[in-house]
Amino acid sequence: MCGIIGVLSQNQAAPFLTNGLKNLEYRGYDSAGIAVINNGQVASKKAEGKLINLTDLLVHEPLTGKAGIGHTRWATHGSPSKHNAHPITVGKVSVVHNGIIENYKVLKNELSSLGYQFKSDTDTETIAALCDSYLESGCTIREATVKTISKLKGAFAFCLLFNGEDDLLVAARQGSPLVIGHGNNEMFIGSDALALADQTNKITYLSEGDYAFLTRKNIEIFNVKNVKITRPIQYIDIE
Ligand code: GLU
Repeated sequence: MCGIIGVLSQNQAAPFLTNGLKNLEYRGYDSAGIAVINNGQVASKKAEGKLINLTDLLVHEPLTGKAGIGHTRWATHGSPSKHNAHPITVGKVSVVHNGIIENYKVLKNELSSLGYQFKSDTDTETIAALCDSYLESGCTIREATVKTISKLKGAFAFCLLFNGEDDLLVAARQGSPLVIGHGNNEMFIGSDALALADQTNKITYLSEGDYAFLTRKNIEIFNVKNVKITRPIQYIDIE
């Protein structure tokens, strides 16, 4: 069981992301990484092994930007390595993913025939490639997200960050938990509320099949039937 974290912040994203991943260390992992967006450009850093390898790397090679996503990986497809660590970027789309995409081989074949060349050995890369292929075919981010989710089989949670979109994160939950944290003109995503505990105790739990579009000021959640819905904000006791 790995960890997912995401932030649309007023401050630098990297320290929040690595702190959040620290809070998720108890879930176990073999590598870690973060991606941060700055003026529309996404950059990522990843490291095999303990989180400290990533935080040490970030001391020498810092990432600037106020929004981003992060991940601690428990490899299911592809060796535990920097090469397979998340976030994984294909074209305009960067993804962190928890779980398994069961039909990844079929998707890889389809995407290969469109010209996509896969850089990792993961099932995860198909999420980013699929979403990017829909964007390339002229879909909006919302359309591409819905089409991507409808093609994926398996149990997963994922979070997407897009080149050119400094104020947008997409979160989707289907078989793996994911929570949204509400800040003051800030939004957070985590595998659990503990990951966000340093920032907020205002939490919305996504239900099975939900997906959400987050900006710093707004969140729109859709259910498995693609109907816009409201999920309650709960004030949780971190203690
Ligand atoms: N199946 C994905 C991979 O092997 C995600 C594993 C996880 O949940 O950490 O990269």
